[in-house]
Amino acid sequence: MKKSVIRVGRTAYPVYSLNTLVIGSGAAGLNAAVRLDEFGQTDVAVVTDRFGAGTSANSGSDKQTYYKLSLAGDRPDAAFDMARDLAAGGSMHGDIALAETQGSPEAFFHLVGLGVPFPHDRFGAYVGYKTDHDPRQRATSAGPLTSHLMFRALAAEVRRRKVRVFDRHEVIALLTEGAGAAKRVIGAVALDKKKLSSANFGFVLFNATNVVMATGGPGGMYEHSVYPESQTGSHGLLFEAGAVAQNLTESQYGLASIEFRWNVSGAYQQAVPRYISTDAGGGDEREFLNDFFPDMGRLATAVFLKGYQWPFDPRKAVDGGSSLVDILVYEETVVKGRRVFLDFRHDPDGGGKLEPFETRLLAPEAFAYLERSGALLPTPIARLLKMNRPAVDLYRSRGIDLAREPLEVAVCAQHNNGGFRGSIWWQSNVRGLFPVGEVCGTHGVTRPGGSALNAGQVGSARAALFIARRRAGRPMSVADFVRATKAQVLAKSEQARAMIGRKDGRALSPESCLAEVRQRMSACGAAVRNPEEVRSEKAAARELWRRARREIRVRSARDLPKAFKALDLSLTHAVYLQAVGEYLDRGGKSRGSCLVPDSSGRKPHPLLEDRWAFSLTSPSDFVSRNILEVWLDKKGQVRKRWLPVRPLPPAEGWFETVWNDFMKDAIIVEED
Ligand SMILES: Cc1cc2nc3c(=O)[nH]c(=O)nc-3n(C[C@H](O)[C@H](O)[C@H](O)COP(=O)(O)OP(=O)(O)OC[C@H]3O[C@@H](n4cnc5c(N)ncnc54)[C@H](O)[C@@H]3O)c2cc1C
Repeated sequence: MKKSVIRVGRTAYPVYSLNTLVIGSGAAGLNAAVRLDEFGQTDVAVVTDRFGAGTSANSGSDKQTYYKLSLAGDRPDAAFDMARDLAAGGSMHGDIALAETQGSPEAFFHLVGLGVPFPHDRFGAYVGYKTDHDPRQRATSAGPLTSHLMFRALAAEVRRRKVRVFDRHEVIALLTEGAGAAKRVIGAVALDKKKLSSANFGFVLFNATNVVMATGGPGGMYEHSVYPESQTGSHGLLFEAGAVAQNLTESQYGLASIEFRWNVSGAYQQAVPRYISTDAGGGDEREFLNDFFPDMGRLATAVFLKGYQWPFDPRKAVDGGSSLVDILVYEETVVKGRRVFLDFRHDPDGGGKLEPFETRLLAPEAFAYLERSGALLPTPIARLLKMNRPAVDLYRSRGIDLAREPLEVAVCAQHNNGGFRGSIWWQSNVRGLFPVGEVCGTHGVTRPGGSALNAGQVGSARAALFIARRRAGRPMSVADFVRATKAQVLAKSEQARAMIGRKDGRALSPESCLAEVRQRMSACGAAVRNPEEVRSEKAAARELWRRARREIRVRSARDLPKAFKALDLSLTHAVYLQAVGEYLDRGGKSRGSCLVPDSSGRKPHPLLEDRWAFSLTSPSDFVSRNILEVWLDKKGQVRKRWLPVRPLPPAEGWFETVWNDFMKDAIIVEED
């Protein structure tokens, strides 16, 4: 990496020239950096808004899951079986599913080699368990903090390999050259947060042959969110660079604690806590589930099943299924404005309507699970401690004692299955730009729990391999870089200048811009999507983005990162709502983790109001056979296209043919 200083207009800017810039320091970004170094590409740097921020470092659940090919037990697994199961979630391309599957054992053992403590038995078997949307036992876990442990191990390896990290640098633009299919990325602009008050506002330019974009999911768009506060996302940068996104409509929503953001899945539900709601002030406590289940056995079993049916799923919202619980929590919190808590101190008492809880009332599957776990005990906290003590300790470490106080929860946004499109080498339509991790939308409508972490590791490794073998070239000369990027850099710097301190005209603060984004997304772009509301709100979202570009004002340069973040998220939510609108206009109904009210459909429960009626998308519908791609054109218009889902490729597998291609170096190539 070479450092130079250039002048654009009257301002001087530092420029770092290098082969590959990795943006983001989550599990995917750090793995890309490590793998590049392993594959021999050492001219690499990581730039991150804060080392230790983001989802991987800060999120988890009772037993955070990593999905991989099954490598234990007496039931054989096959890569094609796992690929079929990944693709069975719907709207996932078969070739990507196969690449994620084939890469899974290698990616997993890479983490094991770096010291991530995935448990194994005395014969070395990494035994698995069944997670949501998983027909086998492919899931494993290193405990509640799996992704954090991955982050820690990868961070140590980045340090050991002496990869340069630009910490406290927020990327605010990608730099590109060319148009259409010839468009390529040539670098990025970051704000050095330690130098915001200097004459160039802390602008740092990167002149790079490749950019690995590992900026994670768009957590900052939602009011009700279990993404850590530090994970806001930077999708707007990619939209502005012309990258094509897919499946943006597909996200996961589910129950999470809100004071400390954490998924209440697995044992938190299998312990069968008491669900209570109160008014805003904490009074008028009620066991609100009691009205909606015919008996305590079915109520408790629905709660138990939420453990491994964690994401809200409209298919499971009828006939007393586990997702009816999410709807009832949503109804209490969003519709009635009450607060909902999980109370681990006492068993559900039935509120005089149902008989008090006893473990013998559970369905046989749930009873047997507690029995095998030695957890046929009175009180949810005793059962939880028996099944998963670290899950209790974790809250205790955050100052919340589940043995003494109820835990406030809501239906929260947790993961975006969609994101930016990548090839089987994770390269986007913009040459040299590789979205990896959650920002890359490889998953479809549903996905097995844990497959996000697998996709992040496999995708970043494959991108690194492709870069090392095919895109090892030097960056352009600094003079050419200046010529190619001058207008883009000036435009960003003018934008920064215009946002600082000016009092003329109308002013929009980043805070109020973000509040509007979050309120709108949680109201109509999350778990419940009313078509009429989406129709009007997508126009309002676009208008907010337009206003944000003209009217965002901050007091000083120190607030520029906030201003750029608000701009980014206002654009992001405008594009997401366009995608949701397009899906609904094409006849899309409830699927995945979202419910689309439909008066001609069925209500999840007779006691719920008519507006909860919904119907499901069928596999033969247009929206199921095709994948929605969206992108921003040069004029800032959202463009849309539906593409047929690509099937799984046929098994090649003839050794001599593959060996020949391999020896001719004809394997690592882009096919389009
Ligand atoms: C509560 C919860 C539980 C989960 N449980 C599971 C599970 O059990 N199994 C599973 O597979 N998945 C799970 N997930 C999803 C999974 O954890 C994430 O998808 C994954 O960790 C994302 O990793 P990443 O590296 O892509 O992004 P992140 O870890 O989010 O990292 C993004 C990085 O980009 C940086 N960044 C962003 N924008 C910029 C910018 N403009 N400039 C500089 N830096 C920037 C951030 O600071 C951060 O370092 C869970 C998610 C949540 C929220």
